[in-house]
Amino acid sequence: MPTAAPRRRGWRAGTARAAAAAPLLLLLAPLIAAPRPAAAAGEVDAIVIGAGVAGLKAALDLATGGNSVTVLEARPRTGGRIHTLNDPRWGAVELGAQWIHGQPNVLTDLCKERGWKRLPSDLVGGVGYEATSQTTAKEITDAQWTAWEKLFSDLEERIEVLQEESSDGKNLAWGVKKFIREEDLTDSQIKGVDFMVNQEWVQEYAASTKRLSLNWFDNDAEDLGGDSIIERGYSAVPDDLLSQARAKGVKVLLNQTVAEVDYSEGDSVVVTTTDGQAYTASFAVVTLPLGVLQAKKRDGGVAFSPRLPSTKRRAIKNLKMGVLNKVILGFPDSAKWTQYNWVDRIPLPTDAGRWREFFSLRNITGKPLIVAFNAGDAALYGDDPSDETLVADAVSALRAMFGADNIPDPDYSLVTRWHQDPYTFGSYSVVAAGAKGTERKDLAAPVGKLLYFAGEAADVDYPSTVQGAWLSGAAAAKAAVLDHP
Ligand SMILES: Cc1cc2nc3c(=O)[nH]c(=O)nc-3n(C[C@H](O)[C@H](O)[C@H](O)COP(=O)(O)OP(=O)(O)OC[C@H]3O[C@@H](n4cnc5c(N)ncnc54)[C@H](O)[C@@H]3O)c2cc1C
Repeated sequence: MPTAAPRRRGWRAGTARAAAAAPLLLLLAPLIAAPRPAAAAGEVDAIVIGAGVAGLKAALDLATGGNSVTVLEARPRTGGRIHTLNDPRWGAVELGAQWIHGQPNVLTDLCKERGWKRLPSDLVGGVGYEATSQTTAKEITDAQWTAWEKLFSDLEERIEVLQEESSDGKNLAWGVKKFIREEDLTDSQIKGVDFMVNQEWVQEYAASTKRLSLNWFDNDAEDLGGDSIIERGYSAVPDDLLSQARAKGVKVLLNQTVAEVDYSEGDSVVVTTTDGQAYTASFAVVTLPLGVLQAKKRDGGVAFSPRLPSTKRRAIKNLKMGVLNKVILGFPDSAKWTQYNWVDRIPLPTDAGRWREFFSLRNITGKPLIVAFNAGDAALYGDDPSDETLVADAVSALRAMFGADNIPDPDYSLVTRWHQDPYTFGSYSVVAAGAKGTERKDLAAPVGKLLYFAGEAADVDYPSTVQGAWLSGAAAAKAAVLDHP
């Protein structure tokens, strides 16, 4: 098979508009303060809700700033949307976040400090296929790639112009349709645009173009490339934060699902869990995922008393959770599909938009693992299909492209359903049509000196990423330490 031309490829490598990098050094400056007098018995200075990267980073910095801190986490584990299964045969299997991507990145610095090996996983080494039946597929030719990439680059330019001209209510699908109509594209060109749009935007932002805001979907800092994978697994990051935080006296309580946050007293916050346990603090840092902030109380949401201010409620409403799910397949060593890191596929109409993108770890970690990514509407499986059906369908799609001889039955498989996870209700946040572009800033804004907000959705420059979660946790802790000297 000819090697496809190197091309832009990878998770969240979408176009970018506002490229102002966060003042990293400022955010990372250690928050050192003299120890404060101990809080009243049974109480702490700070409660942090959620023990993902945002919560653990906030807890660590608050403790470094002299605060007594309790972290309340609903799951029986820390790390949230970072979840590595370390397996002797398959190595680090990532159910959630996989890549450190783009530079600068605080996680690259952390890996260097700790001596953790990063495996380069740059965006080249891909191939594309168009499914022609359940058992056959034809390779996308170099001429098609070239033509489609040119079309997509024209589309990107047009979208930028439309972003300047259009009202906030428009979605990205509207802009794509307008481009197709005005350029009078042929069916084959439309197929190319659809392929590129899916690969570059739907897979990256984990949402259909109908859901994404035309004006603000790509309003984050530019990804400068240089993606890598932490060899020992992404969970090394939250694990490291946890052990540092514990060393500073932070208490991390697992299996504590927060149901209510009462800040009506004006000088303290009472956080109550679903089993009726109440914790009191001078202030709280809320790192609940956007999906949990959006959920109704009866569906696993959290009640704030009094209600959150209207700007914050609007921010929570205008952002949406994107969905990216993985079907992870482990093959016998004899499996021959090793040449490509990435495979993009034009699915059959009967595929429900699934099996558009596959990623092989073999060239990167040496393990014969292939990850199928389903994004947006294609990832909202519900209860049907079953895990077995999803695995069988992914294997069939691979066999149609690479031949049954090269794709034996997998020895190992895992299916994620992040959209049904009651502690996130999705994978990461996106900016939906109707948004004003200020939502992430509004979500991050503190409520008085009582509630501070962090989490990937609340980071302006690197939303939807681990780096964004880290920076938002650092920023919330910094604001709280300044407010509570
Ligand atoms: C499939 C997938 C792939 C991804 N790939 C990448 C990638 O390659 N690179 C990248 O940078 N990012 C990636 N991300 C995004 C990244 O994982 C997140 O942006 C980041 O981990 C979010 O951290 P957080 O602390 O904001 O939220 P979380 O990690 O979700 O932490 C929030 C915590 O709050 C807890 N919680 C929820 N409800 C309650 C409650 N009621 N009471 C108490 N605790 C509660 C949760 O259990 C969780 O532990 C991916 C995400 C997914 C799902």
